[in-house]
Amino acid sequence: MTEIVEEGTLNEGGLNFVEQEIKDDLAAGKNGGRLSTRFPPEPNGYLHIGHAKAFIMDFGVAEKFGGTCNLRFDDTNPQKEDMEYVEAIKRDIHWLGYDWGDRLYYASDYFPQLFEFAVKLIKEGKAYVDEQTSEQIAAQKGTPTLPGTESPFRNRPVEENLDLFLRMNKGEFEEGSMVLRAKIDMANSNMHFRDPIMYRIIKTPHWRTGTQWKVYPMYDFAHGQSDYFEGVTHSICTLEFVPHRPLYEYFVKELATDDYAPRQIEFNRLNLTYTVMSKRKLLQLVKENLVNGWDDPRMPTICGLRRRGYTPTAIKDFVNRIGYTRFEALNHIELLEHSVREDLNKTATRISAVVNPVKLIITNYPDGQEETILMDNNPENLEEGKHEMPFTKELWIEKEDFMENPPKKFFRLSPDKEVRLKGAYIIKCTGVKKNDDGEIEEIYATYDPDTRSGLPGADRKVKGTLHWVSVPHAVDAQVRDYDRLFAVENPSAEEGDFRDLLNPNSLKVRNGVKLEPWAAKNAKPGDHFQFTRLGYYTVDPDSDDDRLVFNKTIGLKDTWAKEQKKGQK
Ligand code: ATP
Ligand code: MG
Repeated sequence: MTEIVEEGTLNEGGLNFVEQEIKDDLAAGKNGGRLSTRFPPEPNGYLHIGHAKAFIMDFGVAEKFGGTCNLRFDDTNPQKEDMEYVEAIKRDIHWLGYDWGDRLYYASDYFPQLFEFAVKLIKEGKAYVDEQTSEQIAAQKGTPTLPGTESPFRNRPVEENLDLFLRMNKGEFEEGSMVLRAKIDMANSNMHFRDPIMYRIIKTPHWRTGTQWKVYPMYDFAHGQSDYFEGVTHSICTLEFVPHRPLYEYFVKELATDDYAPRQIEFNRLNLTYTVMSKRKLLQLVKENLVNGWDDPRMPTICGLRRRGYTPTAIKDFVNRIGYTRFEALNHIELLEHSVREDLNKTATRISAVVNPVKLIITNYPDGQEETILMDNNPENLEEGKHEMPFTKELWIEKEDFMENPPKKFFRLSPDKEVRLKGAYIIKCTGVKKNDDGEIEEIYATYDPDTRSGLPGADRKVKGTLHWVSVPHAVDAQVRDYDRLFAVENPSAEEGDFRDLLNPNSLKVRNGVKLEPWAAKNAKPGDHFQFTRLGYYTVDPDSDDDRLVFNKTIGLKDTWAKEQKKGQK
């Protein structure tokens, strides 16, 4: 198998640019050689594979260089946040194999210190209460080339600012009636310096601090300071924060009483074809029932990927292949699929299942006879052993494996032609029975008793091998087949409503899939299987004692590897 790695993402030492920067800082003895990172999710939705890219870096680099990584919930907006998300986020990080130990923090832990810091800035004449509407403030912002306009409230006396800010927090004023702004520079070429908002009034109770606070810090006023309070040395985030970095550094400098300062480093976001990464849009899909919940196997969420059958190994392998750079990119979903295929090929147990069954009757096989065929659990790893599969006169095979009038290169079953039944005998098709609509109801064949696989004389070769399941032993299961969630490659780049771009055929449910009995007895939710000749399938938690449900994780055909080979020619 060819290794597919994007070029230019690793240096000679095998490090990406973030790791190299950190290594250099450690070598230079910065922060006394200490390394501390953090992953700072806002608990306003479930994590998606883009977040995985972020925390694989945060936790991974700490592991690599003997540092620590904090989990910090950035819970500064009670209007959008929920305990449900906190628990889901923790579960997903753990599933990918990372742990924050006793370093679980919340930005809300710092509300008292942040409030005190705001008061200090007011007292020093570096912050003021602005009573304009958000529209007025926005209109005064200017443009990157045009300076902004100063607010009429910008020069109010310190005492008045202090009084108003304290009363804002007592709940005396309505939401949106005033904000606290940093007094920096309305003409600065960096728009983030044009008197950024530090605090706004929110009356919705906070899920942790209740009604204690009526003012809540903005991201830019909370993030750097939280990093500072925790002693974070490297604050790794995505490229959209590059223009925020000077402000991040400004506030930390105002706050710091020593010369320690966390360093922000930015990398490119993960974007995947045929899906969206915006939490707002994903929430909308869930709320409007356009998918079946956050863990719908079509979603790019970590819990959706898990349910679909993606493994931590596959996700980490994919993130490693796309790498960390400073260039925005759109990553191909085929590469993610390639990663899971490679992983499951090594680990998934091979079983026989017929998803679109038609009955095959072996007319010269004795009625009531049953043989036991031993099947390899994984031909890629023979140590996994074998399991037993019953062979009888009546078998299920795939409809697609038979053609009455086949084209030249059809090596499956057709009249008077021979195939091998996997692990068993060579058979020859002798005829079919059709119903009144002309559909094939039964296929007839004779078997050659001297051709049983593994026995002397069985070395006669035929071109096609079919999988099968014994009719009296088969267990019915449901299979959910998935296609791309969106019909277009890059939905975020299209005009109009993103919901109109959903693929209407992204889910197909098949009932009456015929499963071999050993698999039916042993399958548990979360187990991965390869259905021989068909693809990888994962048992869904909707399964119960009466019915097994499988999600098709991915087919066998590796479109990514094929494209790569073509590209190399
Ligand atoms: P929003 O802030 O709009 O709610 P978000 O996706 O940025 O959405 P956060 O909870 O703030 O959500 O993200 C936590 C961390 O994950 C941030 O450091 C952010 O940079 C990172 N992150 C978010 N989306 C991606 C992505 N697609 N690729 C890589 N990292 C991401
Ligand atoms: Mg964010």
